[in-house]
Amino acid sequence: MPTGPSLSIGIAGAGLLGRLLAWQLSRAGHRVSVFDPAADEQPQFNGQQVQGQQVQGQQAAGFTAAGMLSPLAELDNSSIGVARLGWRSIPLWQAHAVALEQPDLVQVRGSCLVAHRSDLGAAQRVLARLSNGGLDLPQAQALTMADLAELEPAVHGVAHAWMLPGEGQINPVATLLALHAKAQQVQWHWGQRVTAVRPNELQLASGENARFDWAIDVRGVGAKPEWPVRGVRGEVAWLQAPNHGLIRPLRLLHPRHRVYVVPRTADIVLVGASEIESEDRSPVSLRSVVELLSAAHSVMPGLAESRVLRLDTNLRPALPDNEPLTEMAPGLLRINGLFRHGWLLAPAIVEDALTQLTEMIGDTEHV
Ligand SMILES: Cc1cc2nc3c(=O)[nH]c(=O)nc-3n(C[C@H](O)[C@H](O)[C@H](O)COP(=O)(O)OP(=O)(O)OC[C@H]3O[C@@H](n4cnc5c(N)ncnc54)[C@H](O)[C@@H]3O)c2cc1C
Repeated sequence: MPTGPSLSIGIAGAGLLGRLLAWQLSRAGHRVSVFDPAADEQPQFNGQQVQGQQVQGQQAAGFTAAGMLSPLAELDNSSIGVARLGWRSIPLWQAHAVALEQPDLVQVRGSCLVAHRSDLGAAQRVLARLSNGGLDLPQAQALTMADLAELEPAVHGVAHAWMLPGEGQINPVATLLALHAKAQQVQWHWGQRVTAVRPNELQLASGENARFDWAIDVRGVGAKPEWPVRGVRGEVAWLQAPNHGLIRPLRLLHPRHRVYVVPRTADIVLVGASEIESEDRSPVSLRSVVELLSAAHSVMPGLAESRVLRLDTNLRPALPDNEPLTEMAPGLLRINGLFRHGWLLAPAIVEDALTQLTEMIGDTEHV
């Protein structure tokens, strides 16, 4: 955390990274201004009507996310480096939630993997990828059906199950709103698009150039074309399911679909998510709804009478190697590429970036 003299800091983007950085930097006594094209700090879900216009999924991806903190399960399609950052982030999120005076924003109860009888082969291939080469990371633990019935009584119709110990979940919408609410010293400039980010400077769509001691670019997919970032479409369904009984995130290992069900409140679950190499921001397709919801229903038959509250789409910001990247030069910090694990990675990435920033400020002062 950069301490010492108060710096003026301009942040482009008020999504997950932008709000976390703004909150932390303002707590450390810096003068922070944040610019974002969104109308205000509230989520605007895809398809929602705002001032007579239909929202087309342009809000922060952070609002759409399921909020799983799954360093082990994500090894299915990410590196050991991502997993290590993820394991560091979970206790950091717990500490942040306490500092935000909402410890319940984060739950750490592990998560479950399940598979139907005919899908054991596909499940074993995924588990082999999660075994993380014998490194010092936690491992998936096989459950009997009796164990599963005790841990997750709402889950039925599966033949195989595993527990991923130490994994957790966060409530993304509530956390983004809490970060904003607790960063009262920050100047939030809504409805302001940043067209370029340079050392010490944000260029605004209005033509104005805003000058700062440090400029920070956390625009996600909006950092194109300055960064080679691409959007990867993801679709989710929110279900109103009174007393659904699900206790922890549940992933179905299936040869064709990657589907998870995440408890959001005692009465709401989120089912996700498609992963489509497309920057199409249009509403959720029938095919995705059918695939996601039928897979969810096959492991939680009690969802049959739930009500579809919301279908939402967004773009995950990904760099060509699907790895996160932090770049720093005097007066300029850029972070992007958090892809499908932004909630999992953000606290550790921000911690490392702020340490680097402190060192760089120290070096500059000694020049
Ligand atoms: C369907 C789905 C499910 C997901 N599930 C999970 C999950 O379970 N666990 C997990 O860890 N991660 C998950 N993610 C990933 C996570 O949401 C992202 O990695 C994370 O939101 C990226 O954070 P960010 O701050 O880089 O970008 P964002 O959260 O997208 O924020 C970018 C911000 O920049 C603003 N912006 C854009 N252009 C400009 C501009 N020109 N000027 C100024 N501001 C601009 C945007 O309005 C936005 O507010 C999921 C994502 C999706 C889409």
